[in-house]
Formats: sequence, C-alpha cells, structure tokens
Amino acid sequence: MGALLKQTLNKARTLLRCDFEENHRHFYFYCPGCKRLHCYNVNHKNSNGALWSFNGDFEVPSFSPSLRYLGYPTGTLCHLFLTNSTLVYCSDNPHDHNGKTIPLPVIPESEIVGLFGEDAPIERLAA
Ligand SMILES: [Zn+2]
Repeated sequence: MGALLKQTLNKARTLLRCDFEENHRHFYFYCPGCKRLHCYNVNHKNSNGALWSFNGDFEVPSFSPSLRYLGYPTGTLCHLFLTNSTLVYCSDNPHDHNGKTIPLPVIPESEIVGLFGEDAPIERLAA
C-alpha cells in the first residue's frame, strides 16, 4: 500500500475515509468493544484476501459482509455488521459488546491522531 494522500472525516465524525496511493481506499470506525479503530477496505483485497462492499453513503454507511477479527490461537476477537450507521455485534464476541446493537460512535480524537500521527492532515466536513 502506498502513501496516505488524504483523509476525510464525515459530518457525524463517525467514519474516517483514507485514500492511499494506487487508488486504495480504507474506511475506519471506532469499536467500543475493542476500544480501537477497525477498518474496511473497499476497492482492493487486504492481506487476507478480504474485500467489502460499501453503500456509498458517507453519512449513513453500510458495509457488507460482516467484519470479523481473528486472533491466534484465541479465535474471534470481534465480529460485527456495520449497517445504516449502526453497529450490530454478533453473538460470538469475547468483549462486553457481544450481541449489542448501537449507533455508530463518534471517533475519539486520540484515535485519529494515533492512526497516522499528529501531522497527518484531516479534512473535516461541516456538520
Ligand atoms: Zn471490535
């Protein structure tokens, strides 16, 4: 993956779009179950061969299929759907959000800074 060209936070501050060289695009959201950002890649396969579809609505996003993080040898670390700006946690999560459905949370500022460093420019859309 090439260099980060641009990052854009949506109006609701719940979704961060990152555009990289080679036309790679990632979307980040905050997971309160894992207390960190998770990522969808929508136009190129990740290192595990996974690729997601995006409904194209930056403010009311949906991605499919589900997102699942696996640990070895522990198994599932996080498993959820992001649909209509709502996080729907599956029933196989080891954390305290297992089975819950919650609105997509605002991304904590500290997570954005930590993602690419303090100097990374962020375009913020007016609310
Ligand atoms: Zn998670």
